[in-house]
Amino acid sequence: MPDDIMDTARRTAQELDRRDPLAGYRDAFVIDDPELIYLDGNSLGRLPERTRSHLHDAIDRGWGRNLIRSWGEGWFDAPVRVGDAIAPLIGAAPGQVVVADSTSVNLFKLALAALEHQAPRTKIVSDEMNFPSDLYVLQGAARLRGVDTTLDLLQPASDGIHADEARLRGAIDEDTALVVLSHVTFKSGYMFDAAEVTDRAHEVGALILWDLSHSAGSALVELDAWGADLAVGCSYKYLNGGPGAPAFLYVRTDLQDELVSPIWGWFGQSSPFGFDLGYTPTEGIRRFLVGTPPVLSLLAIEEGVAQVHHAGMPAVRAKSKALTAYLMDLVDEVLTPLGFSVGTPRDPARRGSHVTLQHPDAYRMSRAMIDAGIVPDFREPDNIRLGVAPLYTTFLELCEAVERIRHIVEQRQHEGYGVDRAAIT
Ligand SMILES: *Cc1c(COP(=O)(O)O)cnc(C)c1O
Repeated sequence: MPDDIMDTARRTAQELDRRDPLAGYRDAFVIDDPELIYLDGNSLGRLPERTRSHLHDAIDRGWGRNLIRSWGEGWFDAPVRVGDAIAPLIGAAPGQVVVADSTSVNLFKLALAALEHQAPRTKIVSDEMNFPSDLYVLQGAARLRGVDTTLDLLQPASDGIHADEARLRGAIDEDTALVVLSHVTFKSGYMFDAAEVTDRAHEVGALILWDLSHSAGSALVELDAWGADLAVGCSYKYLNGGPGAPAFLYVRTDLQDELVSPIWGWFGQSSPFGFDLGYTPTEGIRRFLVGTPPVLSLLAIEEGVAQVHHAGMPAVRAKSKALTAYLMDLVDEVLTPLGFSVGTPRDPARRGSHVTLQHPDAYRMSRAMIDAGIVPDFREPDNIRLGVAPLYTTFLELCEAVERIRHIVEQRQHEGYGVDRAAIT
């Protein structure tokens, strides 16, 4: 009987791939092993084919031939240029996004600047579904601000999958300085109603900071339309910027000159080559830069961002929803009877671009999946994330992945693995 289900699922997948308006984008990426089902684009996106020549040019011509002259031929402006290229993908007008540092460092800079701006308010609101690094950064920021600064961490709804937005609204009050949330949460893939939460923060005079790491390049983000104050996010996930690519940050225009970055460096100075002994922040978004950017990693982002831009965010989001819906339906039919459950919101308006499978033996299962040619990632305690990247994931790959997982369970292959965690999962 399951074979009938799989036959039908396969035909459906082939039909969906045939009708997919983004199908051609897969060829724009390096697919080194066509048998490998890569479902981890939410941790490290694939290499865009054109990034190879772009980087070769940066190395051979930019560094090799032009040497330091390249700073005046595109390197110095790159943080703003790449920021402005990312801006339309997150609903931001130009001049509000810059690329620098890591997401964690950008969060630190913006959180401290916001807390200072909001004094005497001292309360930060976030939630337990947020990415731990973000929570560490906020704990550190609170410590630096002083003893009366508090971090209120909301618990998720009782299913552990959805946020409790009613409780969140209640927690954002007149004492709240800053609300920090991941627009799409890293574990369940829950997506907040960002416009509504932003409104709530503003109703009581709080600032809001969205972490867009799991949404940039996969979900519709409308920072300007939401009225968001601040945002940060990764460029190496759905923007395919490459390992260690610097992150982006957003500060809405009219807030830029009111905020003071806590790290004063020459790239944020009004005249970096004046070598004044005193620090005067430059105008606009550049004031959130610190020091010399990692130029090669920064330039590596450009082609990945251009691909997403070319495909268009509405089409990207439509395919992301279709992929996750297809996958969840098939998991319900084939894997739920085998002991899995779906740990991701059912409502497409409330979920991002990954589907989390829960299984009591999730760690060993994820190890067996990797050996079966499926790359997911494992998140404690029992979550296997299957990330779908709209530009290169196919419906047929999802069908094939479910079939391989079913095979693992039926053959009990996962039982041959140890439960000791590898250093990197
Ligand atoms: C991936 C991710 C990060 C990564 O932070 P880095 O400082 O770039 O390592 C931060 N926040 C969230 C929500 C993420 O998903």
